Amino acid sequence: MYYMIILLVYGAVDAIACLGLSLQFGVAGVTNFGFIIFQAAGAYTAAALALPSDSADGGFQTYVGGLNLPFPLPWIGAAVAGGLLALPFTFLVGRRLRGDFAAVGLLVTAVLLNLLATNYRPLFNGDAGMALVPAPLQQGMFVTGSNAYQLGFAAGAIILAAAVYWFVRRITESPYGRTLRAMRDNDKVADSLGKNLLSLRTGVLVSGGAIAGLSGAVLVSFIGVWSPAAWSYAETIVLFTAVIIGGAGNHRGAVLGALVVPVGFEEITRFISNNNPSLPPNLLPSLQWVAIGLLIACFLWLRPRGILPERKRLIPAAPTWTQRMLRRAPATLPRAATLPEPDSLPRQPPQAAAASGPGLAATAAGPRTGTGAGVVAADSAAEILRAVGVSKDFGGVQAVSEVTLSVRRGTLTGLIGPNGAGKSTLLSLLAGTERVSAGNIIYAGQDVTGAPAYRRARAGLVRTFQLASEFKRLTVLENLLAAVPGHRGDSFLGAMAGRRYWHADEVGAIARAQALISSFGLTQHANDYAGDLSGGQRRLVEIMRALMTEPDMLLLDEPMAGVHPELARTIGDALRALCQDGMTILMVEHELAIMDEFCDPVIVMADGRVLAEGTMTELRDRSEVVEAYLVG
Ligand code: ADP
Ligand code: MG
Repeated sequence: MYYMIILLVYGAVDAIACLGLSLQFGVAGVTNFGFIIFQAAGAYTAAALALPSDSADGGFQTYVGGLNLPFPLPWIGAAVAGGLLALPFTFLVGRRLRGDFAAVGLLVTAVLLNLLATNYRPLFNGDAGMALVPAPLQQGMFVTGSNAYQLGFAAGAIILAAAVYWFVRRITESPYGRTLRAMRDNDKVADSLGKNLLSLRTGVLVSGGAIAGLSGAVLVSFIGVWSPAAWSYAETIVLFTAVIIGGAGNHRGAVLGALVVPVGFEEITRFISNNNPSLPPNLLPSLQWVAIGLLIACFLWLRPRGILPERKRLIPAAPTWTQRMLRRAPATLPRAATLPEPDSLPRQPPQAAAASGPGLAATAAGPRTGTGAGVVAADSAAEILRAVGVSKDFGGVQAVSEVTLSVRRGTLTGLIGPNGAGKSTLLSLLAGTERVSAGNIIYAGQDVTGAPAYRRARAGLVRTFQLASEFKRLTVLENLLAAVPGHRGDSFLGAMAGRRYWHADEVGAIARAQALISSFGLTQHANDYAGDLSGGQRRLVEIMRALMTEPDMLLLDEPMAGVHPELARTIGDALRALCQDGMTILMVEHELAIMDEFCDPVIVMADGRVLAEGTMTELRDRSEVVEAYLVG
């Protein structure tokens, strides 16, 4: 009986921890190899808050705290401690796109903190650890150690695990959770669509840290002792194994993994050593590591998504209830109706920002003779984007040198040049994916040179990528929905507020996405994983996803590369129509025919510099342009 209770409590503790890890790793793609330190922080905090002052037990152990607080304060304190401890690490995983680097940093920190706790006695009694941690609510009618008390404890732990399950599910099943999954699949792209990676990663690190802290509190309250040996960095690997085997990104899988791996291993070890008392004491723990290694290898090879893989989120094609809701909810989401973003650049109405200095291109432009339909304003002031002396060097390679150009509002401007000319790099500089080495970028009258990509995207300047950049494990529809700006459910608090709070936004966004998907003829693929589509279809998804952000200006990097010619024409026509409706597009291509047909004006780049600018007819007459092509 007592043994069953122990298993139940351990199961609940491991389930709580695995749910936190599942949120961080499975959903948000944050590889926290230091996960165990957050559990340890919770355990130490709970112990230090629940124990009386360290002189009370005759001073046989020394520790800080000793506040003797009543339940549930030690547990709350543990969750807070786990969350707070996560804050310094947000700078490690934050915005920079080096997940592997951050993972190693966290692992090293875990080892260092364990060494510190082992060797520094005044903090938490060093390697001897803390003992006699009081169990919660043991006064009065509850008698510690009685079966009834232990059973009650196990029930409480299971209820707590259920609450944590509810919490992570509420996040994961919200638009905020969808954004986390998008960040997991491709953080650079999420950034370019206006997602603040630092804030997203802070959210999962802190909430995952609080969950881990809570699991530590439950554990220490149950076993009454806590020492550095209980939280070696290797424990993190056991939890990772559990989450990977159970199914990363599936919270039921995380719970299952918690029951199979940590609890199961304890069980097997105990069973074998009980029946073979003559075995050397170190053999079983070592074999346990071998088994964990084999288990991970087998699963990654045979069933990489785990026993219970992440569920595919199917959204039915405009059922009647959606249409009924639509009559009540606006089909498009006006940006103004959303929560104000304190750190976003102000968006300006189309003409208001126009008078920002002389348009560099327009002075050289002259009358237009191209077939491009985007000639809206011959007004020299109608400039939306300007680069002044922009350069970028990658450790000696001068990818872009001193580029000065200007894009007028409402045009479909082409950017052409041979491979390696620096077109993609220039686009990255304009969008903020890369920082300039020198020069300035002015968008809608604002100097955005120092603004990160997500802020430029929120201001309406949105890019696509040359290489495939769909969110692979999101469906086509979800790819589009993830890009919706200012969705009420796309924040931690919005997710917590629940479906009723954001449902109307979601319905409107779904309707808009479905309309867009149908206009590009992809309706029958709406619920397919984007990663399973053909190359051409994925290009469409990326364009549609960029359009979902309601951009004022699109930067497209070879949107028609590798696309069937017929589809390329459809894309070109669609882009031209968008420009007629007032959007501005800067499009990189290296096919002259496409430039001929759709773009006006055209900017020619070679060797990182702008060679020429004008209509295609004008450019064909210029020898240096022809030469660049022959040479390149
Ligand atoms: P394009 O898109 O016109 O083909 P790119 O902008 O991709 O050209 O590349 C321009 C030059 O910059 C190339 O010589 C390329 O090798 C170099 N380059 C691009 N990105 C990087 C990078 N991240 N690190 C180092 N060199 C780069
Ligand atoms: Mg390129």
